[in-house]
Amino acid sequence: MAVCNVVIAGAGIAGIEGLLRLQRLAGDRVRVTVLSPADEFVYRPLAVLEPFSRDSLRRYPLERLIAPTGAGHVRDRLVRVDPGFALVLTSSGRELHYDALLVALGAGESNPYPHAALFTDRNGGETFTSILGDLESGRANSLAFVVPNCSVWPLPLYELALLTAHRARRRATAARLTFVTAEPRPLTAFGQAAGDAIERLLDSAGIHLRAGVVADVPGPGRLRLDDGELHADRIVTLPRIIGPAVPGLPAGTDSFTPIDDYCRVPGTEGRVFAAGDATDSPAKHGGLGAQQADTAAAGIAHLAGAAPPPEPLMPVIRSTLLTGDKPLYLLAQLVGGLDWSSEVREQPPWPAEEKVVAEELGPYLAALPAGLASRP
Ligand SMILES: Cc1cc2nc3c(=O)[nH]c(=O)nc-3n(C[C@H](O)[C@H](O)[C@H](O)COP(=O)(O)OP(=O)(O)OC[C@H]3O[C@@H](n4cnc5c(N)ncnc54)[C@H](O)[C@@H]3O)c2cc1C
Repeated sequence: MAVCNVVIAGAGIAGIEGLLRLQRLAGDRVRVTVLSPADEFVYRPLAVLEPFSRDSLRRYPLERLIAPTGAGHVRDRLVRVDPGFALVLTSSGRELHYDALLVALGAGESNPYPHAALFTDRNGGETFTSILGDLESGRANSLAFVVPNCSVWPLPLYELALLTAHRARRRATAARLTFVTAEPRPLTAFGQAAGDAIERLLDSAGIHLRAGVVADVPGPGRLRLDDGELHADRIVTLPRIIGPAVPGLPAGTDSFTPIDDYCRVPGTEGRVFAAGDATDSPAKHGGLGAQQADTAAAGIAHLAGAAPPPEPLMPVIRSTLLTGDKPLYLLAQLVGGLDWSSEVREQPPWPAEEKVVAEELGPYLAALPAGLASRP
């Protein structure tokens, strides 16, 4: 059988996880090209530690992750997919033919509240460091964390609130902290046990919780809630995340790419797969994106004649919640296609250094030479 040409568009958590799983399942039955304009792989989840320790965001040279797998790296941007001709078109005018394509482009970001400070891994360190400085110098006495009512990565804002309260306690900073979320309960997508644990943590950290509240920020320091206005000297929020709206592929709500249980994109003759934040999965989470990438890789390996038919995706959310004290480990699993069963552990069920639980990427990064990851 001929070698199967695979294009992986995107080199974040989902793209690299998919690459590693595919190499393991299909080896030389596939010829893989990774298409990404990036030079670095940024381990985004550690961004929450940046304002607190200044040396936490890890960046790896992408070449050092891709080259050992034997895949090629084209530094370019996907601008269109033509499923009829099985082609990817790039921003520099290249045409890449594929037998199978994995779309792992991540999501775009926008600010849901122009009057609030936005925490992302791109600016989070700087913006939030200056907010901490304001609280500690007395220029600000109150801070509200606001999870907006749209697609977001909610976990980092809870971590930021708990880390802030922990530091305020240690430095005896008098700050009034409020957490407002549109979710009915904290981290709803992570299940009941996670919600209970976070409510307890917020309470014992002295953070006032308002859950199930859709907030508006009509001006600096002003929070309009269902039952009136609240003032906070500083307000910090998360980006609204939006799908990549890939021309040539279907797009669902907010331009996310729809996928089926095998992470295939409908209407593409079973040859286009998608994984990670780009997809229309209701929870946006690196560990979940990695599982989708593993499912997609199994499907591609099957197309290449190297593996049996894949199993459908059984999503499990596995997350480490940083608290300032000992982290908590959150697990949630979809039961019967409807309900999430969840549990919270105090001991790490996965290697403690893995903030994103990804079966291939985790051990791969851990085995890289120490010092390869640069820190800001
Ligand atoms: C502050 C923060 C903390 C987080 N904490 C956690 C956590 O603790 N646990 C967890 O599991 N998740 C966490 N997440 C979420 C997690 O980081 C994301 O879900 C994950 O990065 C998504 O991976 P991805 O591969 O889909 O997208 P990305 O990581 O965004 O990667 C997208 C890739 O696509 C490339 N690309 C973009 N456009 C194009 C194009 N047109 N053509 C080709 N390539 C393109 C980019 O260069 C990049 O390489 C956190 C996120 C943030 C921001």
